[in-house]
Amino acid sequence: MRRTDALRGLVRETELSPSHLIQPLFVVAGEGIREEVESMPGIERFSISGLVEEAGEVAGAGVGAVLLFGIPAAKDESGSGAYDDEGVVQMAVRALKEAHPDLVVITDVCLCEYTSHGHCGFVRDGEVDNDLTIELLAKTAISHAEAGADAVAPSDMMDGRVGTIRHQLDEEGHSGTPIVAYSAKYASAFYGPFRDAAESWSAESRRRPKRRLPPTTSPASTRC
Ligand SMILES: [Zn+2]
Repeated sequence: MRRTDALRGLVRETELSPSHLIQPLFVVAGEGIREEVESMPGIERFSISGLVEEAGEVAGAGVGAVLLFGIPAAKDESGSGAYDDEGVVQMAVRALKEAHPDLVVITDVCLCEYTSHGHCGFVRDGEVDNDLTIELLAKTAISHAEAGADAVAPSDMMDGRVGTIRHQLDEEGHSGTPIVAYSAKYASAFYGPFRDAAESWSAESRRRPKRRLPPTTSPASTRC
């Protein structure tokens, strides 16, 4: 059954088309901004109107979904821009859903783009406070769902965050909003370009990536 193209096509079990792909998009607060991400050639950060235009091209190419990362105008200790109803992602989601209602819009849910220290959570006494952080992540997910996001995608590595987000989305009337799980995140240089694109570097977070798994603890990856 592998002798010719036609025979192989007849028994092919796996197909990959653009509709299976998700395009990450980086939205920056402000107007008329379009800037190259140095560490990711061909990828740019857009303010909202450029983002809407780019998403139109992405949808036109048959890509099934976009995944939004936000870069706020200002960062603070508690990452409050992440769960602000008028935050950059919330406004971008509304604009995208209005312009491209059929395009699936997924939102990254994390605090690191919004915190001044660049960690993915709330820092108390020099350590990320897991339980307070998951409350803030749930608050972020709810604000994204309220803006119209089709799905939310937590990318932090806090313990228990998916359960808390699910519970609170359900409580707030968003039981139909799915949570897209990222793979487990290992401490790795592969995150460098993403952190660069999302401007979530700080000297502190670069030196001490607190929450990503060490590559030597493989079983832990199934419990996040
Ligand atoms: Zn993060």
